[in-house]
Amino acid sequence: MRFTDFNFHPNLLEGIEASNYEIATPVQEQVIPPILEGRDVIASAQTGTGKTAAFLLPIMNNLLKNHVDGKTGALIIVPTRELAIQISQHVEGLSYFTHLSSIAVYGGNNGDNFINEKKALQMGADIIVCTPGRMIAHLNMGYVSLKGLQFLVLDEADRMLDMGFQDDINKIIKALPAKRQNLLFSATMPEKIRQMARKILHQPAEINIAISKPPAKIVQKAFVIYEPQKLPLVKKLLKETPYKNALVFCSRKQSVKQLTRELKLGKINVAEIHSDLEQSERENVLGAFTAGRIPVMVATDILSRGIDIDTIDLVINYDVPGDGEDYVHRIGRTARAEADGIAYTLIGEKEQNKFAAIEKLLEKEVEKAEVPKELGAVPAYNPHFRGSGGKPKKRFYHHYNKQRK
Ligand code: AMP
Repeated sequence: MRFTDFNFHPNLLEGIEASNYEIATPVQEQVIPPILEGRDVIASAQTGTGKTAAFLLPIMNNLLKNHVDGKTGALIIVPTRELAIQISQHVEGLSYFTHLSSIAVYGGNNGDNFINEKKALQMGADIIVCTPGRMIAHLNMGYVSLKGLQFLVLDEADRMLDMGFQDDINKIIKALPAKRQNLLFSATMPEKIRQMARKILHQPAEINIAISKPPAKIVQKAFVIYEPQKLPLVKKLLKETPYKNALVFCSRKQSVKQLTRELKLGKINVAEIHSDLEQSERENVLGAFTAGRIPVMVATDILSRGIDIDTIDLVINYDVPGDGEDYVHRIGRTARAEADGIAYTLIGEKEQNKFAAIEKLLEKEVEKAEVPKELGAVPAYNPHFRGSGGKPKKRFYHHYNKQRK
C-alpha cells in the first residue's frame, strides 16, 4: 500500500515524501486505518517495523484537520530519553511542511531545558513526547493543561512496566480528559500489559506484528563464554557434532574472513560467503556447499534470509545476532523440510544482555549448555550483563521500498 492511498493531508504527504517513504510497512498498513477511524489500538510491534510513523502519521493527520490553537493534541509516553529524542526527530521530519509543533520532555538535562519545556508546556505544543518521571515533575508544578488532549500513546509499554513506570503512567493518565483516543505499542504482550490495556483502552483494534517464532523442532542451546574461547569452542562443536551441512554466522564480514582462515588452519573444510564476493563467486560457494563438497560455510546475515538448503542441520551463531528477527532468520536455516536441526549460540560475556532481550522477544529461555572443561573457566551467567553498543540498529526499511517496487 502506498502512502498516497491513505488520503493524508497534502502537507503531511510532502513530509512523507521528503522522508523517502513510499510504501507502508506491514504495521503501518494495519495500524493507520483504525487510528484514522478514531479507534483505540493495541499493537505488538518491535522497533524497526516502522511503528513510530504508524502512530505519528494518523495522529498528525487528525491534528491538522481538527487543530485547536494552544492546546496539546497528543501525548506520547516513552521509557527512555533516547527514544523521546528519536521520536521527536521523527515528528519534526514528518511535520516539516505543516504548522504542527512538538516538544520532547525528558529528564536528566540542565535547568535551561526544564525552563524551555515549561514554556512549551504552558503554551501547549501539538505533540508532546515525554518520559514519565519528567512529565510528572512538570504536572506537579501545576502549569500543565492537557484539557484538549485527543491522543495518548504508550510506546514500548512492556519496557515502561519493566522499568517500574506503572504508577507514574497512572498519575499522568489522571490528568488527561476521559474522552481521548488511546494507542498502546509493545514488543511483547505479557499478561501485565494486557491488564494495563484493559484499564486504559476502549474496545481496541488489536494488531499483531510480532516476529515469527522458530520451528519447535530446532534444538536451541547457548554457551556463555569469554570472547577468546569462541574459536576453540566452534572448532570443537564442528568436530564433535554430527551434521551434513553446518552454517556458521558472524555479524561482520571481517569476522567471517578471520574465522574462515582460523578454521582452515584447524583442517576444517570450510568456505566463506559475504557481500565482498562477486555474485558468481557466491553461487560457486553455495553450489559446493549444497552438493556437500564443502560441508561448512561461514556467512554474514545476508544469508540468513531466504536461503533454503534442506541439508543444513547445524547452525552456529558465532556472535549474538542484532535482534530477535535476525536470530529467527539465522536459526531457521536449519531444520528445513522434514529434517531436524541444532542451533548453537555463542554468547560472549558482553553479549548476555543482548541475548536476554532476544529470549524475551521469543518468550523462550534458551538452554545454557555446559562449556567443555578443557576450555577453562567461563563467565558466570548474568542476563543483565551489558556490553558496549547496546543501541538497536536501524533496520532494513530503506531497502523495503526498493524490494517492493
Ligand atoms: P521504527 O520502527 O519506527 O523505529 O522505524 C524504523 C526505521 O524505518 C526508521 O528509520 C524509519 O524512518 C524507517 N521507516 C519507517 N517507515 C518507513 C517506510 N514506510 N518506508 C521506509 N522507511 C520507513
